Amino acid sequence: MSAKNVLFVLLVLFYLCCFSGLFSQEKVSDWNSFRYPEINFVNHAEGTKGWEIYNRIIPDPEEYINAAILEVVKTLYWSEKDSIPDVRRINYALRDVDGISAKGGGPPEITIFYSSRWVEKSEKDAGDDKVLFETRGVLLHELTHGFQLEPQGIGTYADGGEFWIFIEGMADAVRIHNDGFPQDNRKPGGSWKDGYQRTGYFLDWLTTKDPDFLRKFNKSALDIVPWGFDKAIKYILGQHYSVDALWDEYQDYLQIQ
Ligand SMILES: [Zn+2]
Repeated sequence: MSAKNVLFVLLVLFYLCCFSGLFSQEKVSDWNSFRYPEINFVNHAEGTKGWEIYNRIIPDPEEYINAAILEVVKTLYWSEKDSIPDVRRINYALRDVDGISAKGGGPPEITIFYSSRWVEKSEKDAGDDKVLFETRGVLLHELTHGFQLEPQGIGTYADGGEFWIFIEGMADAVRIHNDGFPQDNRKPGGSWKDGYQRTGYFLDWLTTKDPDFLRKFNKSALDIVPWGFDKAIKYILGQHYSVDALWDEYQDYLQIQ
């Protein structure tokens, strides 16, 4: 090889390196250097049937929660180098109360409660498999609240508007995307404004338009201020798309399923 050819090859290699560096954010990372938060597992349901079941089927809650965290951040982000809310500590409390689960607090420290009565009910309904399926699904939803980005400039969660639709829709979208709901839960009808599963299944269906849709929708909360559902759709898929037209297309698709 002549000196000129060697120089040419080196130049090509240099450009390849530059471009791969430039677009590395768009590539899915191996997440090897992701910094897991500290998990503080607190059992406030000692002596209950629900605790007995939980303890038997999830002997290592910390490992179990970390596995769910990885699924959540991989669904919401390309890489551990992205702008991920810096959750440093998760207080996960099993409690002998009604309800299912909820997240409180914000980075660096969040708290998630999980009902031992819900564990007991799931066990009664369909045994250990159901408890595991339900516990993982609920955990994916609550952990999404810990690690998702939040829309800016459009009010608060309590308003029940597009902020709330984004937060609860995404939490269920992440759960859906990781097979956390029973297969027949997706049903036609309603509105994209309904939040939870209704919005979540729609957001997950939009990954058929762009496989990175959920990551881009999450990131739109950083890039679009003030945020809006329709603005985010246009930002990700193109100006000729609208949320209402896509919702109609999605409903047509559900009718023929
Ligand atoms: Zn929620």
